Amino acid sequence: MATARQKYSAKDEYPNLTQHSNYMAKVLTSSVYENLKKIKTPGGFTIDEVIQTGVDNPGHPFIVAVGAVAGDEESYDVFAELFDPIIEARHAGFKKTDKHRTDLNPENVVGGNLDSNYVLSSRVRTGRCIRGLSLPPKCTRAERREVERILVDALAQLDGAYRGKYYSLETMSTEDQEQLINDHFLFDKPVSPLLTSAGMARDWPDARGIWHNEDKNFLVWVNEEDHSRIISMQTGGNIREVFSRFCHGLNMVENLIKQCGYEFMWNEHLGYVLTCPSNLGTGLRAGVHVKIPLLSQHEQFQTILDNLRLQKRGTGGVDTASEGGVYDVSNADRLGWSEVELVQAVIDGVTLLVDMEKKLEVGGSIDELIPRPRDRSQKY
Ligand code: ADP
Ligand code: MG
Repeated sequence: MATARQKYSAKDEYPNLTQHSNYMAKVLTSSVYENLKKIKTPGGFTIDEVIQTGVDNPGHPFIVAVGAVAGDEESYDVFAELFDPIIEARHAGFKKTDKHRTDLNPENVVGGNLDSNYVLSSRVRTGRCIRGLSLPPKCTRAERREVERILVDALAQLDGAYRGKYYSLETMSTEDQEQLINDHFLFDKPVSPLLTSAGMARDWPDARGIWHNEDKNFLVWVNEEDHSRIISMQTGGNIREVFSRFCHGLNMVENLIKQCGYEFMWNEHLGYVLTCPSNLGTGLRAGVHVKIPLLSQHEQFQTILDNLRLQKRGTGGVDTASEGGVYDVSNADRLGWSEVELVQAVIDGVTLLVDMEKKLEVGGSIDELIPRPRDRSQKY
């Protein structure tokens, strides 16, 4: 006799997506769902697990969310019928046949010392995941602990200005944790339904933690949304220096991981493979906290950001609103452009935003400064 579960067809199981504005909802027709319902990744990740976050979260107040996650490196291949169109829509027309490119040479960036009267802090982050271990939406407790062990062992070998220490969330006091979050060093507890519905908050805080160097300007988050998030940050507007430290540190971390017998998930098409399709490619988000109280009230503000291919967030992270005219402004793209190109887009774009703010301060018009839309064919 069929069990209750087997009785139902893909049609019966198809989610109600009528209120949804995320990319997944646009792609997941009932026929796509039916095809993908029949298959799983070698690690057992299913289409229902891929889309749960997007089903539970119809929209996001500040960004167009993707609404789908990978549970392992193979997810992007196995569920290509869903992921390929999402990737193409989210990454400005990046096609299945396109190749991603990497450039982590900080010397290739032009300028980058932004006006610290407006730019309060600068940060560059990426994610890296370890091949052979499931991603946070799928990993078991043992896999997650293995990720932590590999990273902590590798990071312990960093030296000089990069020498640091690992702080496990399991043993950290609530006060220390709050302090690190308030100082923007540590990821927030996973209260966001985007993360909890994706299964990324399971077993919290087991095997989660933060590693940082003594100066707290090179940091690694362990087992948040990706196996690792590698971050360089400092106060003020010198994003060139931040990117330079980021590239050197990242390079050393990658070499240490290799020496320990592991490698990061990567392929020619998608670049570095991460949990959220929005982060594929470089995984890079280069951003500044920038004070633009006048420009941010301007009716063209969102258009200006869109045309520069920049994204805005509140200063407390992706789920927060802006306070006091200070925004987190970062590159909107990750895939199909190199790290250097994306950082250059932020440098050039933020320079323009600050010029506009100065113009508005003296009662001038910014009409002449409004940029035209940039498309994929343009190099930065
Ligand atoms: P991510 O893309 O790295 O996950 P989130 O939006 O989730 O970024 O924010 C993570 C944390 O990083 C938050 O505490 C946020 O305030 C901090 N942060 C992001 N950008 C900057 C910046 N330019 N300067 C200081 N802190 C930042
Ligand atoms: Mg985040």
